[in-house]
Amino acid sequence: MTAASPLRPGAPERLARIDAVLEAAYRSPEADLGNKADPLDEAIYIVLSFQTDLARFSSTWSRLRAAYPSWDALERASAREVARVLRGGGLHRQKAKTIRSLLADVRSVAGEHSLDLLRHMNDDEAEKLLTRLPGLSWKAARCVLLYSLGRNVLPVDSNTFRVLKRTGVLSRQAVYRRRSLHNAIQAAVPAPRRRSLHVNLVVHGQRTCLPRNPRCPCCPLNAECSKIGLDVSAGKERADGLRYRGVGTRSNRKRYPTVGG
Ligand code: SF4
Repeated sequence: MTAASPLRPGAPERLARIDAVLEAAYRSPEADLGNKADPLDEAIYIVLSFQTDLARFSSTWSRLRAAYPSWDALERASAREVARVLRGGGLHRQKAKTIRSLLADVRSVAGEHSLDLLRHMNDDEAEKLLTRLPGLSWKAARCVLLYSLGRNVLPVDSNTFRVLKRTGVLSRQAVYRRRSLHNAIQAAVPAPRRRSLHVNLVVHGQRTCLPRNPRCPCCPLNAECSKIGLDVSAGKERADGLRYRGVGTRSNRKRYPTVGG
């Protein structure tokens, strides 16, 4: 590894051990996460997931689809009406604005409310197109690639970032919003293992390695975890612990600064 790498020495081997332990513990319960087979549905689902938990954004998704069975209907609605539907899901005004802009841009690029054109692109082309759309980060783009297009990519969400920093896979200086971090983690995991490891890391972050008060005593990684950023005696995150900030790509962060993750 070079000095600038966000990965600590031995990261690929440590990731392989984490993969094996988490697979034995969780068995990659992908259906629990509710991701979507359609690429535009998945992109909007990920926008709804920013800065909130699975229960809240799953329920927000259901309300959104009940109110707007077609994306055409949603784009025709006012931002205020859409925000009203999203209320309770966190950042409802910003997400309403982002989703309407996303739909307008998709219609402009594809001629319809569909991202099926991605199916004919390679991973780099598809990721480039997606990260130019409002509100979509590298993580969001790779979720679309993984869940809707079946590509061998590894999205790094806030759960993954937190778990990999605490366990010592990532250096203390690793910064979430750098694309090099996302690329380095993905490159360190063999392509056939990326999907299940991603799912298991998300689930582990939601159920066990919580942002506050992680459940270390019952964690399957307890014996080998470095617990970086945690005050082990108090079981709490230190003030200098792990900070996660939402991320967009440079272009869409300027336009939609409050969402992205
Ligand atoms: S031992 Fe604690 S900090 Fe380490 S992965 Fe498990 S829950 Fe997270």
